[in-house]
Amino acid sequence: AGGTVRASDVDQLIRQHAPLCMSNMHASLRADKHLRHGGRMQYGLFLKAIGLSVEEALIFWRTAFTNHTDDKFQKEYSYNIRHNYGLEGKRVSYSAYNCMKIISGNPPSTGDHHGCPFRHFSQGSLESKLYSERIGTVYVNEIMNLVRDRHYQVACTRFFEVTHSQYGENSKIDTIEHPNQYYEASKRLAK
Ligand code: SF4
Repeated sequence: AGGTVRASDVDQLIRQHAPLCMSNMHASLRADKHLRHGGRMQYGLFLKAIGLSVEEALIFWRTAFTNHTDDKFQKEYSYNIRHNYGLEGKRVSYSAYNCMKIISGNPPSTGDHHGCPFRHFSQGSLESKLYSERIGTVYVNEIMNLVRDRHYQVACTRFFEVTHSQYGENSKIDTIEHPNQYYEASKRLAK
């Protein structure tokens, strides 16, 4: 995936294909017109991996941070975005985080939105989130049981299967190891 996604496509692609960790950060970004560092890293590298070029990434983040002046944006954010694409500093092109890294990494504190909802949301918040995605009670209970047993990635996989059940047997997938695996599997089904 290289440079095929436009900044203006992101809302729709996230709504249709992103795992909960990414749709959660996207929603927070839209609500707060800001996202803190951990979220910008996790979400920014995910967007890069779905094919957002550095030019489109700069447009995406600049328009998302509507309350910032151009000057503040250039100084505080544009370097890091270019850095993620290997255009600054050590010129390493960074790859998107896998689930293991997200789940076992630095947990989000208040005001942070990075992390894995299956791992880092309180049980109450996760449960309401699942209901807000119109998941039936039987499946919500099944997913919450997986979470209580600390099978976060299996819970995410079941979430995928339930939310793609219109594709029948094709909605069955290998256990999610990477947010971009989730995204690509969803896009493939929609073709
Ligand atoms: Fe994201 Fe992975 Fe957690 Fe699913 S299991 S929400 S893809 S971090």
